[in-house]
Amino acid sequence: MRPEEKREQVEERLPDIKRFLEQYKKQFLIGLGTVTMAGAVTFGGYQYIQAQSVPLYPVLVGDEVIGTVSDPDVVQNWLQKQYAAAREEAGRADLALTQAVTVSEPKWVYKGQSQDAEVLKVLKQKVAVQAKGVQLVIDGRPVAVVTDQESLDRLLGAYRQRYSGELARTPHTDRSARGNSRTVVKEVAFVQSVATREVAVDPDEVMEPQQVARLLEAGTLAGRKHTVREGESLWTIASRYDTTVQQLLENNPGLDENSRLQPGQELVVTAKVPLLSVRIVEETKEIQTVPFATEVVEEPAMLKGEQKVLREGKHGTKQVTYEVTKINGQIQTKRPIKEQIMEEPQNRVIAKGTKVVADRGSGVFRWPTVGGYISSRYGMRDGRLHAGIDIARPSSYSILAADNGRVVFAGWDGGYGKSVIIDHRNGYRTRYAHLSSINVRVGQVVERGQKIGVMGSTGHSTGTHLHFEVLKNGRPINPLEML
Ligand SMILES: [Zn+2]
Repeated sequence: MRPEEKREQVEERLPDIKRFLEQYKKQFLIGLGTVTMAGAVTFGGYQYIQAQSVPLYPVLVGDEVIGTVSDPDVVQNWLQKQYAAAREEAGRADLALTQAVTVSEPKWVYKGQSQDAEVLKVLKQKVAVQAKGVQLVIDGRPVAVVTDQESLDRLLGAYRQRYSGELARTPHTDRSARGNSRTVVKEVAFVQSVATREVAVDPDEVMEPQQVARLLEAGTLAGRKHTVREGESLWTIASRYDTTVQQLLENNPGLDENSRLQPGQELVVTAKVPLLSVRIVEETKEIQTVPFATEVVEEPAMLKGEQKVLREGKHGTKQVTYEVTKINGQIQTKRPIKEQIMEEPQNRVIAKGTKVVADRGSGVFRWPTVGGYISSRYGMRDGRLHAGIDIARPSSYSILAADNGRVVFAGWDGGYGKSVIIDHRNGYRTRYAHLSSINVRVGQVVERGQKIGVMGSTGHSTGTHLHFEVLKNGRPINPLEML
């Protein structure tokens, strides 16, 4: 058989070779590297070729031939090594080549020289193994790549749950309402826009989900202004922003450890800002006190300035439903959305006197007791002036003011015992002596007929009676002139 005939034979068999190579190529692409090349090398039809001819396998990257190799294994082994290295970095992620690598059917070349080393060099430059993954994009910024969508969804779900779930389980985190509140989480959402997309990246960029979670939480350090409040120090501010005094001093040139902070002063603080924040909206119910109000009833029978409690007040209770918005557990807003009275408060009712009494007497006196008779008259008695009248055996022991006026004495006065003096501000004063008790105080305005005390026998007295005096411009006169 002439060589030409052989070539025809070979070309007839090309479809077989192509099919094989296609399969071969596919194997490369998925990187399993388990193809046996024996068939290609010892392909029946080629064995007749003279020993001087060698097969050279063209290698293509995409459509471009980059050279020839002596054996497809040269390429396959290189690829396998790349895949193995990538596999270590990329975990479970799918791997792919940046460009297709194809080893074509061999050409038999007389004393041909392969370019194994050169081809590998070019491959290294042109081809890399990439990991397929899912990228997390927050507010348009790529943040991390994980192997698959499911891992990412799980990761984001857990991140969200940390805030919503935890709060739902412990409804008493709000100290102001401890023991009195009931909280239901209504809404959980990320503050930032969160998107995912499929990407192919360097295998070492693929991260474990736990790493990503830590990254999201750790966030970034951002400069922020803090306005100093009363009582704050560098130390308390540092601890509030989870930073150090040293860091604060670095942020704020001109400040040293001994600087006195003034309220209102602004400091640059560095605060940790998580890459991803969770906003939750919850509804919380609290039982609160409804304070009672005080109702005032005007009482014309009582003197102005006097008051009396008619009914004690009692606080009520209400259930207040708040809508609370929190970001990463920190309360942002809390607004009441519903109030329900559970127990109405009972108002306190007080009576306030409205009666205005003139402190000036009318000049017309009334009998200062309830009934009774004169047991001793005004005038000389045992060589001494009995400066008033004595009234005994009344039908009640109440002692009454003889006219409007102002109390100028109320207390013990030697032989008078417990006694009261009223100045009627018209030149007259009246004295009431030997009382068993006194109902008025100095300075008080009293009304004609108002009870000022109780009849008794205090001081120089031999029996229960009232000693009643009338003084005109300081001198005693016979009370009967006025009664
Ligand atoms: Zn007397």
